[in-house]
Amino acid sequence: SREVQLVARPQGAPRPTDFRLTEQPLPEPQDGQLLVENLYLTVDPYMRGRMNDVKSYTPPFALNETMTGGAVGRVRVSRAEGVQAGEYVLHDQGWRTHAVLDARRARVIRPLPGVPLSAYLGVLGMPGLTAYAGLLRVAAFQPGDAVFVSGAAGAVGSAVGQIARLKGASRVVGSAGSADKVRHLTDVLGFDAAFSYRDGPVGRQLREAAPDGLDVYFDNVGGEHLEAAISSLKPGGRAAICGMISQYNSTEPPVAPRNLAQMIGKQLTLRGFLVTPHYDLYDTFVQEVGGWIQAGQLHYDETVVDGIEAAPGAFIGLLEGQNTGKMIVRLEGQ
Ligand code: NDP
Repeated sequence: SREVQLVARPQGAPRPTDFRLTEQPLPEPQDGQLLVENLYLTVDPYMRGRMNDVKSYTPPFALNETMTGGAVGRVRVSRAEGVQAGEYVLHDQGWRTHAVLDARRARVIRPLPGVPLSAYLGVLGMPGLTAYAGLLRVAAFQPGDAVFVSGAAGAVGSAVGQIARLKGASRVVGSAGSADKVRHLTDVLGFDAAFSYRDGPVGRQLREAAPDGLDVYFDNVGGEHLEAAISSLKPGGRAAICGMISQYNSTEPPVAPRNLAQMIGKQLTLRGFLVTPHYDLYDTFVQEVGGWIQAGQLHYDETVVDGIEAAPGAFIGLLEGQNTGKMIVRLEGQ
């Protein structure tokens, strides 16, 4: 198996030299195990946290060991009941071309017609469920709500904005990091308004995009975005605090938000969450979001890079905003 290892803990932004591609022998699958050929790997922002040597909700990656992460693969050999060779599985032994793993750590996927396997790492996978659970359950979205989502052209954010639209939001506003992404939000994804945080202060741009205020903020970015949203939330407003990607590479503590005291007067709810305890919603989510995709009502994008050797660059690029929609590493055909 060709595998990517972390060889140095990044200081600030990760660099190619923090990673190494290695060749590892594959063990024979034992009873209850599968040999899987990976077809698609995911790189996700949370992996940046795992590259630091600090305890978090996921343990740090060990140096000089192959990293883990989501992957979809084809079962080559099955020594487990209930899984056949040739079936597709979703599992957590990513960052490598092949994996031997316990079948109970894999979920068999039977892809919906017309939906590619890679979607199970994005819009129909963990990021999609994060959007669905975060908006509907954590932020308690109601039809008629005015919603703002940051990181709106990414995997989670693009799903949040569209789910809000399909569920009857009165206004959907998104922010992203380039003019092309902003156009994509309004022209393709159906956002009512969008702006680039690189074009000026987020607070002013958000007030212009949502002059009547917000009921819900879905935070993927933190910092200045969170501060702006706190100011624009109406009394009783809710925020689902999903990610703070503006800080993942920081070596200094953040300055914003400086206006948290508004939480009191406006009786705001700011609720941090992880997707992990929301997997009870998974089947409902796949049915509803899968249905919207098949009906052409929900659009999803993938930025695809080819080859295991491109995986570190895909991860670095993700943090730099090179992706629209889900960043995917494709191994198929290798
Ligand atoms: P994305 O597909 O959104 O990719 C990351 C994006 O972040 C980039 O495309 C870039 O877009 C943007 N970005 C990078 N740096 C900055 C910055 N300084 N300021 C603003 N935007 C920036 O990733 P995901 O959809 O997978 O994840 C989105 C967020 O959701 C992340 O914060 C992630 O940690 C969080 N998350 C949380 C989960 C949970 O359980 N709580 C689960 C899954 C994700 P741009 O060009 O617009 O800058």
